[in-house]
Amino acid sequence: MARSASRVVTYSPNVFVPLTTFCRNRCAYCGFRREEGEATLLSPQEVFSLVLRGKKAGCSEVLFTLGERPEVHPRARRELEGMGYRSISDYLEELCRHILRLGLLPHTNAGILDVEELRRLRRYNASMGLMLECASRLEAHRESPGKDPGVRLEFIERAGELRIPFTTGILVGIGEGREDRRRSLEEIGRLHERYGHIQEVIIQPFSPKPGTPMGSLPPPPEEEVLETVRMAAEILPPEVGIQIPPNLVEDVVPFLREGANDLGGISEVTPDFVNPERPWPGLPSLRRRLEAEGFRLRGRLPLYPRYARDPSFMSEEVRRVVSRLADEEGYLRPPQKD
Ligand code: SF4
Repeated sequence: MARSASRVVTYSPNVFVPLTTFCRNRCAYCGFRREEGEATLLSPQEVFSLVLRGKKAGCSEVLFTLGERPEVHPRARRELEGMGYRSISDYLEELCRHILRLGLLPHTNAGILDVEELRRLRRYNASMGLMLECASRLEAHRESPGKDPGVRLEFIERAGELRIPFTTGILVGIGEGREDRRRSLEEIGRLHERYGHIQEVIIQPFSPKPGTPMGSLPPPPEEEVLETVRMAAEILPPEVGIQIPPNLVEDVVPFLREGANDLGGISEVTPDFVNPERPWPGLPSLRRRLEAEGFRLRGRLPLYPRYARDPSFMSEEVRRVVSRLADEEGYLRPPQKD
């Protein structure tokens, strides 16, 4: 079935938790990672203070974003051990378990994990994510072992075997070309055809960060990003969402006309810690803008409606929370009046 332009545009009200800025990789565009002396690992108190603010504000998703394999840094290892954990995945498992008990749904982006870690985290995560970034080797990833495209594709495949609703995506403007982008989208489409687990693909424009090796490069021209959305709409199976981050483009409407149908997590509580210089658009004005163009903005959970209705993609612990938060179509239930 061919993809037709969607009038329904989804987003997930979330709270963004930057669990650690320790990372084993050194991507040339990254402004999130910190050197060992300055890097941070949030304590449970810091995490839950954010989570509870999110809960109060009506968020349903807790988005964990973190550097990959922080344990390679001795200070991160010591801090984890001081809290009683052997690894970041042990810590995440415990945090996610408590978050589910609070009635919110974790979505974790932890970089490359082994299959056992992935299996353990699946139990307490509604969905998980890993940007493919690019299916070709790029200079920007020269010092990032975790950005080997083969390793990343294999990870996304493992997530498919484990039936984890999965978010991935590509970065536009980090030194790749049109054919690299096409190949990346084809590889993602191929994995989805096999496992059915790719809920969405983020088309993320590069946003330069001062002080990084790529800090003086320009962001990609809008036409290049539009062309990539068009390409994604042609290549990806129609049920796979195409996400355009609304804080990284001037106006989402031209992207929606090309086939994007999701705006990802939007937080009224926390900034985008990966792109802190780019604030989220306000929801009321975004809604008005979309409605004026004939689109309808709908809240969703961190797992897309079709997975929210399929118990084979959820643990029992996740299913219990999803059944409270989702409406009969699998979208986010509007807040109930007491
Ligand atoms: S893996 Fe992520 S956090 Fe680590 S350097 Fe690359 S972009 Fe930054």
